[in-house]
Amino acid sequence: MDVDARTEALAAYAAETAGCMRCLLAETRTQVVFGSGNPNAELMIVGEAPGYHEDQGGLPFAGQAGELLERLLAGIGLGRDEVYLANVLKCRPPQNRDPLDAEIAACEPHLFRQIELVRPRVVATLGNFATKLLSGRSFGITRVHGQEHEVTLSSTTVVLYPVYHPAAALYTPSMLKALEDDFARLPALLGRPEGSPAVVPLPVPGRGAMPESRVPESGVPESRAPERDEVPVAAGATVQLGLF
Ligand code: URA
Repeated sequence: MDVDARTEALAAYAAETAGCMRCLLAETRTQVVFGSGNPNAELMIVGEAPGYHEDQGGLPFAGQAGELLERLLAGIGLGRDEVYLANVLKCRPPQNRDPLDAEIAACEPHLFRQIELVRPRVVATLGNFATKLLSGRSFGITRVHGQEHEVTLSSTTVVLYPVYHPAAALYTPSMLKALEDDFARLPALLGRPEGSPAVVPLPVPGRGAMPESRVPESGVPESRAPERDEVPVAAGATVQLGLF
């Protein structure tokens, strides 16, 4: 399939998905957040699920985590329009709770079709949910980040490359360092000349570093789980924030 045909097929699939009723998230979403970027990208980045800003605006990685992602991409000489961005879930879970198994199973065909159409060389999975889904294994991100391996996903063979989720790295400097280091290897995995890996961490007022030993396997500091993005949450709402 040439680039034009691929672009058209993705747009047609996005239009079809806009009315998706495969799970109950259809009842609470503002809109389906299909994905964005270059339909011909060599690098696909797969996050967890839309948050408040994505649900409102319709594009993935619209908030603070997206800003950090853009900085990481810029550090290796890539813009967000040069890669393809998608999520495991296309609809925002209420109050940013973790995706449910049933939702992941219902949404999975959309992601697999995106991979089949874009045919990226490398798929970088951000955090636990994307990594577990696309690797088919249950290892946590803390254990497998930075370790690439080849997988075949809907007849497309790609290099799967798990990295920490930027939303987690926003609040944990040691994780940000690991994320930068893992990103610095992407040009080599893509078969490109090395870009500059240096990324200046975003200043996060009032947030201290958590010693490595207190970072749980989930990657979420126990003191405060980061929000999927800066998401207004109704006071008193039960929020389970387990991006990673
Ligand atoms: N925004 C997204 O689109 N996905 C995430 O996983 C986090 C923020």
